[in-house]
Amino acid sequence: MYKLLDGKSLANKLKEELKEEISHYLKKGLRKPSLAVILVGENPASKIYVRKKEESCEYVGINSISYHLPEDTTEKQLLKLINELNNRDDVDGILVQLPLPEHINTKKIINSINPQKDVDGFHPLNVGKLATGIDEGVIPCTPLGIWIMLKHYDIEIFKKNVVIVGTSNIVGKPMGLIFLKNEEATITYCHKNTKNLKEHTKSADILIVAVGKPKLITEDMVKEGVVVVDVGINRLQNGKIVGDVDFDNVKNKAYAITPVPGGVGPLTVVSLLINTVSVYREKNGLGRHPLTII
Ligand code: NAD
Repeated sequence: MYKLLDGKSLANKLKEELKEEISHYLKKGLRKPSLAVILVGENPASKIYVRKKEESCEYVGINSISYHLPEDTTEKQLLKLINELNNRDDVDGILVQLPLPEHINTKKIINSINPQKDVDGFHPLNVGKLATGIDEGVIPCTPLGIWIMLKHYDIEIFKKNVVIVGTSNIVGKPMGLIFLKNEEATITYCHKNTKNLKEHTKSADILIVAVGKPKLITEDMVKEGVVVVDVGINRLQNGKIVGDVDFDNVKNKAYAITPVPGGVGPLTVVSLLINTVSVYREKNGLGRHPLTII
């Protein structure tokens, strides 16, 4: 019988712990941690994600400051807002919901966020810190959430073969860098130009899939005892949300597997809260949040 890596209940548990932690800071006379959330335009999926993030912030006691800007906001206006937030002492974290409308240069926007307030961990300085392992920066939320989950469920990592399918800057690439940090596991990256994907996925002790294609990973592509982390979020025509892995069949061969929904998604949101509390802690001389130490 496979083990279900239940991201939802773990996220709920972590939220309760964060709530407790924040109330402790308030009792000590510190102000609430705060996160500025910027949404530009009307992308329906983005609106849902932003709402979830804001609600989760409020639940644990993080002050979320919302900026819902119209689609025709100019790059200059957005840069001006970020600059103001960078300079505000009462703002600990800044999150710009992606994707941005096409007339705005995403790279320029990410680069303009103060790296110490970059709770998404997308700024090149934070990416570079993770890549070199020299210094601790902010780690992107989805891979951080996956790492926290693997640790929580005692998934053995040492000397394992980890295969990551999908190499985006927000999930796949930083995920591999986390595993490499302490040279614990051996990493294989696969992407759309990988020849014979199955050959690679079959070698995985831990398989992480972040592509965006339903049933990309089928039962014949994994070995017995594999740990499967499905990052994909795909909405089928019937409205059902599924991942990238054929869960119903792959689960029979897996030692452990994440569901979709209720797997990686809730941990991504909770990692944003953890990153926000972490930058707040650092600002207050309390050191990084322990869950961000990899
Ligand atoms: P992306 O869309 O930027 O890139 C997709 C990646 O998949 C690329 O590296 C591409 O080369 C690779 N790819 C495409 N077709 C492939 C194939 N046939 N075989 C192997 N690799 C292939 O990636 P992303 O932004 O990381 O998003 C991936 C998926 O993860 C999406 O479904 C997205 O909605 C989801 N996602 C979920 C969360 C979460 O919290 N659960 C967070 C971020 C993204």
